[in-house]
Amino acid sequence: MRNNRKIMIAGNWKEHMDVSTASHFLHRLQESVANRQSIEVVLFPNVLVLQPLSVQLDRRKFRLGAQDGFYKDAGAYTGEVSMAMLNDLVHYVLVGHSERRHVFNENDDVASKKVQSAVRNGIIPVLCIGETLQERLSGETKQILHNQLTAGLMHLTAREAAAMVIAYEPVWAIGTGEFAKPDQVEEAIKYIRNQVSQLFGERTARHIRILYGGSVDDHNASAFIELEDCDGALVGGASLNHEKFAKIVDVAFKVQQKRMD
Ligand code: PEP
Repeated sequence: MRNNRKIMIAGNWKEHMDVSTASHFLHRLQESVANRQSIEVVLFPNVLVLQPLSVQLDRRKFRLGAQDGFYKDAGAYTGEVSMAMLNDLVHYVLVGHSERRHVFNENDDVASKKVQSAVRNGIIPVLCIGETLQERLSGETKQILHNQLTAGLMHLTAREAAAMVIAYEPVWAIGTGEFAKPDQVEEAIKYIRNQVSQLFGERTARHIRILYGGSVDDHNASAFIELEDCDGALVGGASLNHEKFAKIVDVAFKVQQKRMD
């Protein structure tokens, strides 16, 4: 049976581009990316540029997401920006990105609080999960995915979980140029969907979107997006090149058209 999930292409700009560079880049991107309303294209710039880009954004083509958000709505938390403060600006927020987990020591408990805070504030979390190379080599991939997923989805209702996006991002493939093999991605995504089914039932598992992320570019994107159970890609490095990103969006659009035929 064909699913009716909308393919998402997400561009994680990481800690790149100041206000004027980002504005210039968005201008280029809006020229390169065609208006593809059957798919969803979401940009995740740094928090400083969210506000100015939101004014410039062509909303027929793009949505905005935040790369992070704190789980306390307000208070004595120096340096933090809460989900409550972001909710006017963004549709989505990344949670548990491997760079947050590994550079900033964020654990599953923090990811869980951030997911709940995002949902409470009307922002859809994109929960990133994935194993390190060491964990893959020692056969722990499924256990890691299980732990990160169950922690991330804790305390949600089936309806809230169904609206979420999961990004399967093997840590060893992020920013390395060494992307996962499509059959590894397929196996991981099927496992994740199956776990969601065990936790919330089949209906939720059919609705939740699961992306692949890890060195996706304009050359390899179709191998992942065409996988039957894959609902798009989270793109880091290649999202900083407007031509490459536009090609990835085109690939996704073609796959979505085929799925709708
Ligand atoms: C990411 O930032 O989530 C990512 C997958 O980066 P890259 O595409 O550069 O591997």
